[in-house]
Amino acid sequence: MLGLYIHTPFCEKVCDYCDFSVLSAPDRLLDEYLELLAVEMQLLFKRFPDFTQKFQTIYWGGGTPSILNAKRQNKIFDMLWSHGVGVENLKEFSMELNPESCSQEVVENAIQNGVNRFSLGIQSFKEHLLQKVGRAHSVKTALVALEYLESLRSQGISVSVDLMFNLPGQSVEDFLEDLEFLVKKPIDHISFYGLTVASNTALGTKIKRGELFVDDNLYAEMYLQGVKIVENNGFKRYETSNFAKIGKESLHNQNYWDRGFYLGLGPGAHSFVGNTRFFAPESYAQWRSWVQADCPEKALNKDELDFEAIRTESIWLGLRCSKGFDLQKVKVSASKLKKWTDKGMLQIRNNRVSLRDEGWILMDRIVQDLL
Ligand code: SF4
Repeated sequence: MLGLYIHTPFCEKVCDYCDFSVLSAPDRLLDEYLELLAVEMQLLFKRFPDFTQKFQTIYWGGGTPSILNAKRQNKIFDMLWSHGVGVENLKEFSMELNPESCSQEVVENAIQNGVNRFSLGIQSFKEHLLQKVGRAHSVKTALVALEYLESLRSQGISVSVDLMFNLPGQSVEDFLEDLEFLVKKPIDHISFYGLTVASNTALGTKIKRGELFVDDNLYAEMYLQGVKIVENNGFKRYETSNFAKIGKESLHNQNYWDRGFYLGLGPGAHSFVGNTRFFAPESYAQWRSWVQADCPEKALNKDELDFEAIRTESIWLGLRCSKGFDLQKVKVSASKLKKWTDKGMLQIRNNRVSLRDEGWILMDRIVQDLL
């Protein structure tokens, strides 16, 4: 599988917990970004001429891609098609949306240009929690956006929703109520992520000052109870944070976890080809200078994977997924495997090792031990 990722680093407003390199940008910058993206695309596709017609998935993420109006979006679609990206090979074209910019204009235009999957960042159905973490939308806006996307499923459009847990002031009941509400909706896919607070964010500062508090002791209960709710309602966990109705898994993300190849465009977007992972400068200003200098390869952040690095990736990426990793391809200590299988945290089926039960919560520790 070969994937293409496009990163749009702008948001209506920067959320208090966000430590991605994103900007709340004026129109002038959006137009400049599109011009720079066209240059980067031209140069990257020139380096990998065989790839353009072979992409099977495109994922347009951010940031908030829906912040671009239809006219600006079309510049990106036109760039893709003019480089010969083969629509006929595309199995999945996903686009991230946030409720405040999920307009009919944006969505219809995206569908006309081949987008067939939308991922909506709702994060919580509790108004006070959205406000605590500084989201730009209200619950009402989220519900309108969700209802609109649901109405498109009859046209073959897949709908995914993102929620968050472990938010400041969020009780276990708050989160489980959100999930109980969401699983009844006619959607295809749910992702839920536990908040990790970065100290360099507005939220990190509020927590340091004692204005807000995150009770990490609730993390495991929220996750494990949350999994039960979604799995009892027809969604299957295929990755630690991702749950899908049958056949509705994200192909693009699965390709990451399977260590398939992909190219990335935009500030900080990652690529993986051969045994090399590389990514462009992350901050918008540095990315702009890099593109203006014709994207010099020597300025890329590069990681050439050796045998040990490949083994490490195979274990941790494999264990993130319900299907686990293949014991015939990845060697691990039999005594360590036994230790975790005896504890009921790992299981071995058909020569594949995967997490089970509370093992999902201890994934990092188990991976470290196996390594
Ligand atoms: S919407 Fe996402 S990318 Fe944008 S500021 Fe919020 S967390 Fe960051």
